[in-house]
Amino acid sequence: MDRYRKCVSVLFAPLFFFPIALSPFSFPLWEPQRLRLFSISDMDSQKLRTDGKRMLDFVADYWDGIRERRPLPDVKPGYIRDLVPTTAPTSPEDWTKIFDDLENVVINGATHWHHPHFFAYFPTALSYQSIMADILSGGIAGIGFTWKSCPSMTELEMSSLDWVVDLMGLPEHFKNSHDGPGCGIIQSTASDSTMVAIMAARATKVEQIKAEPTFMKWVGETGVGRTLKGILDRVKTNTTDDEAAGIISPHFHDPTVFERFVMYCSDQAHSSVEKGAMLSAIRLRKLKSTRGFLGNYSVTGQTLRDAIKEDRERGYVPFMFLATVGTTCSCGVDQVDELGPICAAEGLYIHVDAAYAGTFALCDEFKYLTRGMEHVDSYNFNLHKAGMVNFDCSPMWFKNGTHVSRFFNVDALYLAHEYQSTAADYRSTNADNEKLCNAINEDRRIHLVPSTVHGTYFLRMVVCSQLTTLDDVIFAKNVICQIADRLF
Ligand SMILES: *Cc1c(COP(=O)(O)O)cnc(C)c1O
Repeated sequence: MDRYRKCVSVLFAPLFFFPIALSPFSFPLWEPQRLRLFSISDMDSQKLRTDGKRMLDFVADYWDGIRERRPLPDVKPGYIRDLVPTTAPTSPEDWTKIFDDLENVVINGATHWHHPHFFAYFPTALSYQSIMADILSGGIAGIGFTWKSCPSMTELEMSSLDWVVDLMGLPEHFKNSHDGPGCGIIQSTASDSTMVAIMAARATKVEQIKAEPTFMKWVGETGVGRTLKGILDRVKTNTTDDEAAGIISPHFHDPTVFERFVMYCSDQAHSSVEKGAMLSAIRLRKLKSTRGFLGNYSVTGQTLRDAIKEDRERGYVPFMFLATVGTTCSCGVDQVDELGPICAAEGLYIHVDAAYAGTFALCDEFKYLTRGMEHVDSYNFNLHKAGMVNFDCSPMWFKNGTHVSRFFNVDALYLAHEYQSTAADYRSTNADNEKLCNAINEDRRIHLVPSTVHGTYFLRMVVCSQLTTLDDVIFAKNVICQIADRLF
């Protein structure tokens, strides 16, 4: 449901922070999930109305009175031990008591990120509108992993990200509504987006190498040519062996191909880039930034060109440049209009991490932050920083989403094969089950989804809701029988 909330919030998000940050660190923000465990109480919908309103007042009062507090709490590590029991309560607690704890346990030990004297880390987003959206999101509590699992969530996400493209002045081809293969989706964090971009870039290059065995010719008989030849010989044997053993090993995530890969970023890039590279098992080279545009630290085209040349001579395969538009430490902007064409000419994927400063492209005077974005393969920024949308909401766009989504699609990897092997069965029981399942869902009184086990297609019924009673299960059974009678 996060996505629903975010889309609704994006709608309202105004803007007023300026990115002045002196800290090179990112910091995990406080997630509401951790608070949920803490509030074990007895509730029904009537109590939700009364205590829920009181909670809203509590939050509004917190905001009205925030100036009276200090930005940093006066507590020592372990302070919570004296305030909460060591084991969970055995009977539900009254909300009156929990409200007392909110001030004593939670707020007194909180760092107040929204205090007017809080000048640390970076501006983290919050707005009354986003709180409203959070209530709706928590209240509906759905999941939107496919269109069908929640159409409004999916479509709001797609439409509102198209609005953001317009508002920021990003390339039209990023839009979900554009004819081309571009797309925009909401990731949870910039760190996730970076990781996704690195793996997409890695897979793109692996596929390119495998598709064109002559690819190695561009370096002739240099080290990298020999390396690739060795790799390709090994790849051939591995792939055949895996297939025979029924082991899933997507050809584009083949580690034997990317073992010599190297990616680049600025020495000012966020620590999540190093983490993403580490987890993707590829080499990262941080390029020395120099003071250039606006007097801030950024990577020049010459530095990138030199690095690519040197690394090819070393036998490495440069495959990606991760540009930062607004480094967290000093707001350096890598010049994508200069670096983009170099990446294109050298066959490097280019991703832009605009987590910190990206939002400011909403203002006319900061439109230069989107210069050169027509060259990039993917772009990401954080609405949960300066964008006034509560953590977490990290929009990401791809120039060619169709191409990239294959690298992350589990269905395409093994289900496609599964379907092929069972296709012959569709003129049997399986076809009847499929017909029945479709009819049940078109009827709309109940909703269930099918599944397959070892080639058998079946209707899978799960009791999901806390409100479901035996009567509801019998009702479902009757609906199924009724429809089956009608069909067969
Ligand atoms: C904050 C920041 C990140 C990390 O953002 P998360 O959403 O917390 O993962 C990445 N890059 C830059 C430039 C940042 O400022």
